Amino acid sequence: MNRPRLATIWLDGCSGCHMSFLDLDERLVEVAERAELVYSPLIDVKEYPESVDVCLVEGAVASEADLLKIRRVRDRTRTLVAFGDCAVTSNVPGMRNPIGPQPLLARAYLENVTLNAQVPTQVVPRLLPKALPVHAVVEIDVFLPGCPPSADLIYTALDDLLAGRRPDLSHKARFGR
Ligand code: SF4
Repeated sequence: MNRPRLATIWLDGCSGCHMSFLDLDERLVEVAERAELVYSPLIDVKEYPESVDVCLVEGAVASEADLLKIRRVRDRTRTLVAFGDCAVTSNVPGMRNPIGPQPLLARAYLENVTLNAQVPTQVVPRLLPKALPVHAVVEIDVFLPGCPPSADLIYTALDDLLAGRRPDLSHKARFGR
């Protein structure tokens, strides 16, 4: 039987959710045996593939590049998981929402810079007016809260998802988050 095709992606997040994923430690071996990891910041694959069974999405949708990426990912994925509080609520990236992107860019690229101060117009993706939770942009199948979600919670969710079940996280307090 074919193993489920698993992916993880990283939008506007700090990588802490992926670090917590790595905290699965020896359980990573089991996950690697049960699933085929087809796309992730943890492996060297450039293009998000077709026909992904499960994808964990870290981070908020905060830029035009994030928007393009998550729409493509949604089209190619059966079960999409909002992975961590930035994906679920916009959390830390959403802290800039009350002031909008311009004061933020000025602070980062003009006020705090001593040499060649300028707001980049190339390479750095354009920010959206607000950092959005992922469900504001595409349909989400499973919400995995926490900043970051604990390794135990991630494992419990993956155990269900890789077996084709919808995770029951109603007792998530017992996972320490
Ligand atoms: Fe980082 Fe927390 Fe956001 Fe995860 S939920 S990306 S750990 S700030």
